[in-house]
Amino acid sequence: MTSGEDAAWHNLAPEDALRRATAQPEGLTGAEAARRLAAQGPNRLPEARTRGPLLRFLAHFHNVLIYVLLGSAAVTAALQHWVDTGVILAVVLANAAIGFIQEGKAEAAMAAIRQMLAPRAAVLRDGRRVSVDGADLVPGDIVLLEAGDKVPADLRVIEARGLAAQEAILTGESVPVEKSVEPVPADAALGDRRSMLWSGTLVTQGTARGVVVATGAGTEIGRIGGLLAEVEQLTTPLVAQMDHFARWLSFVILLVSGLLLLYGYFVGHQAFADLFMAVVGLAVAAIPEGLPAVMTITLAIGVQAMAQRHAIVRRLPAIEAIGSVSVICTDKTGTLTRNEMVVTGAETPAGAFEIGGEGYAPKGTVAASDDLSRLALAAALCNDAALHRKEGHWTVEGDPMEGALLAFAGKVGGDHAARRLDAIPFDSRHRFMAVLTDGPVGRLVHVKGAPERVLRMCGGIDYKHWHDRADAMARRGLRVLALAERGEAGERIDVSALEGRLTFLGLLGLIDPPRPEAIAAVAECRAAGIRVKMITGDHAGTAAAIAAQIGLEHTNRALTGADLDKLDEAQLALEVASVDVFARTSPEHKLRLVTALQANGLTVAMTGDGVNDAPALKRADAGIAMGLKGSEAAKQAADLVLADDNFASIAAAVREGRTVYDNLKKVISWTLPTNAGEAMVIALALLAGLALPVTAVQILWVNLITAITLGLALAFEPTEAGTMARPPRSRSAPILTGELVWHVVMVALLFLAAVFGVFSYAIDRGYSLPLARTMAMNTLVVLEIFHLFFIRNIHGTSLTWDAAKGTKVVWTVVIVITAAQFAVTYLPPLQALLGTEPVPPADGLLIIAVGAAFFAIIEIEKQIRLGLRARGKMATG
Ligand code: ATP
Repeated sequence: MTSGEDAAWHNLAPEDALRRATAQPEGLTGAEAARRLAAQGPNRLPEARTRGPLLRFLAHFHNVLIYVLLGSAAVTAALQHWVDTGVILAVVLANAAIGFIQEGKAEAAMAAIRQMLAPRAAVLRDGRRVSVDGADLVPGDIVLLEAGDKVPADLRVIEARGLAAQEAILTGESVPVEKSVEPVPADAALGDRRSMLWSGTLVTQGTARGVVVATGAGTEIGRIGGLLAEVEQLTTPLVAQMDHFARWLSFVILLVSGLLLLYGYFVGHQAFADLFMAVVGLAVAAIPEGLPAVMTITLAIGVQAMAQRHAIVRRLPAIEAIGSVSVICTDKTGTLTRNEMVVTGAETPAGAFEIGGEGYAPKGTVAASDDLSRLALAAALCNDAALHRKEGHWTVEGDPMEGALLAFAGKVGGDHAARRLDAIPFDSRHRFMAVLTDGPVGRLVHVKGAPERVLRMCGGIDYKHWHDRADAMARRGLRVLALAERGEAGERIDVSALEGRLTFLGLLGLIDPPRPEAIAAVAECRAAGIRVKMITGDHAGTAAAIAAQIGLEHTNRALTGADLDKLDEAQLALEVASVDVFARTSPEHKLRLVTALQANGLTVAMTGDGVNDAPALKRADAGIAMGLKGSEAAKQAADLVLADDNFASIAAAVREGRTVYDNLKKVISWTLPTNAGEAMVIALALLAGLALPVTAVQILWVNLITAITLGLALAFEPTEAGTMARPPRSRSAPILTGELVWHVVMVALLFLAAVFGVFSYAIDRGYSLPLARTMAMNTLVVLEIFHLFFIRNIHGTSLTWDAAKGTKVVWTVVIVITAAQFAVTYLPPLQALLGTEPVPPADGLLIIAVGAAFFAIIEIEKQIRLGLRARGKMATG
């Protein structure tokens, strides 16, 4: 298709566009759509080109440690130390292979999660509105869009109401462009083609129908190769920080190693070949080469764990933020409540009625009256939902509240068939919906909405009386709607002509019970030192009543949007601390609330679903969009998407976020002291001119075998008990705390003492040097295993049955590493390679006893430290 032909779409009249796309206003048939899909291919942008497997494998050779090793291999080869060269090259290959496999797994996990966010599109097929996978759209499909939707393909607009779209990804212009069906000149620039909607842009307001004119790579965005930037790096601030630290550390280690080489050669007069291998062993032992990779795996596992708990991570850094939140601002309807509504009461000028019946079944016993019938007609017509009966069970398609109104109308009964002429959709800013229909009693406008708003539009009633009635219903936790009507002659609804002229029909009260799991989750958050605040568009009375049922802290006072408008930023920052319920708010208030909470030094999670919630979601430390009822605009602005819209999933995400952070910390706390301990053993021997207690080749081996076993095990650690009983960590808290540095130093010194101790014991007993070294190497591995068990419970005690039981992963790696150590100690071919000798069983037990003693020392030290900290807290608290 040439661009000249393309240019014609925006210039065509809507009917001509439909004809050219061989489409009908009622949509394609399913069969035709399938045929076109087969011919045209899926509506997908070409994948961002990723590197092939070979290149990705080779990339793992690009790292300081590998360079050191390759250089060493060259030197040992020049010295004709072939065994050393062989072992070093094997280590190089194994390192790259491990990195490659780990990275592949992490990336596959991320890709699977990205798939969960694939957008869907509402289209007409066989004359019915259906929701299809965005990739299944074909040219000629009729797509239905509303504010907040992402445009799924290039469309010619054939129907528009108050339509505007934000096209920054195509044009760079962030101000939304108004759209209409009117043809525009053929030579109009892309940004001026107002009769078109472009794939990947966002509908910011209004509703539209459009016919698909281009899909996949044929769209404007496909042509400029857009959206490729969406490919994410597997990193977070913490991982990036550690990556940086590891690089810096490697540099220092190389420098120190170089100095030691010079010192040993010129001052210690040691033989170059042995000295060189020892220094290589030192560098390999000290460089935390596996750290960034293991941290990445830890993140990927955390992302998967969150997805299993229905929290889908869109931006990885959010995983750290969600783990540190100190306040969660949440919507009410559907998040804290079930969003399964039932009309339980009605009040009309003729009296109050109780409405019985459960669920959405439009049947029940209602003593019908004329008043109630008019109310029911309004409820049925001013409505976009539909009720379906599936296997004897009634379900709603559309807004559950409107479903409840249909059920209510069905219970009252009567003829509710009518032809809709015009509608003003509900908007959380004006809080009402209006519909003009031609029906059984002629042409009528029906309005439903928040009582304050609808009552203002009515004439000839006692406002005070009805406001009081609405408040009384709300205080019982009911969601209250007011309904009104007016005879109309025209074809369109003119809102300004309605003000003060509607006839009030009555109030409806709906229950929307709290989710039991949300009540438990709120309690869990409070125990975890996290404040929960409700921000809702609902009435203050309803909001406060539900907040009390859910267990929020301060429910005696609610601030409304109008109250918020009267406060300046400083006053607001003061007030937010002591108020937990915000009612009748608009999306703009959410942004102010996030800012005010952040001004108090809090880390804020904020939920949202509408297109106007996007700024607040972006501003929050963790923006959370609703996966089910949320708009695409909200999802794009969010860091996290809740697959089930449930507050309990936020609490679960916080728990997983804390777990990931803990595990990252554990990985660091295990790796750094281990590396330092190993390195110090060699450095001390070199400096003192002693025989090496562990040879360079043995150090290479220990590093290799522990990196693929012990080093990785911590990435899979489950949530530690008490994780949600701790207060949130401060976001500015550094990961390399004084406590961690102390731990590194202490463990390194203990390693040193234990390895040298066992080594000298063996020499004293008259064992050969190779046997003494074999024992020292095994001591090193045993210490590392005990250290792992210690690290698993940094925050608690390791001396419980659960802690000893460990996890499957932990015991698998312990068994693997034990088997490997037995192999290198007792199998002759491996003995030849590593210069080992069989260790007598009694000495084997001694080594384990040394490990146990090491464990006891660090565990006692931890308990003293935790005890002191707890006491310090009691003194200050
Ligand atoms: P949350 O922000 O917790 O999801 P919400 O869903 O109650 O709150 P909105 O959807 O903004 O908030 O609704 C605010 C008010 O607008 C409701 O209390 C109700 O009175 C009115 N309302 C909601 N939906 C409709 C609708 N479809 N038609 C008419 N009025 C509505």
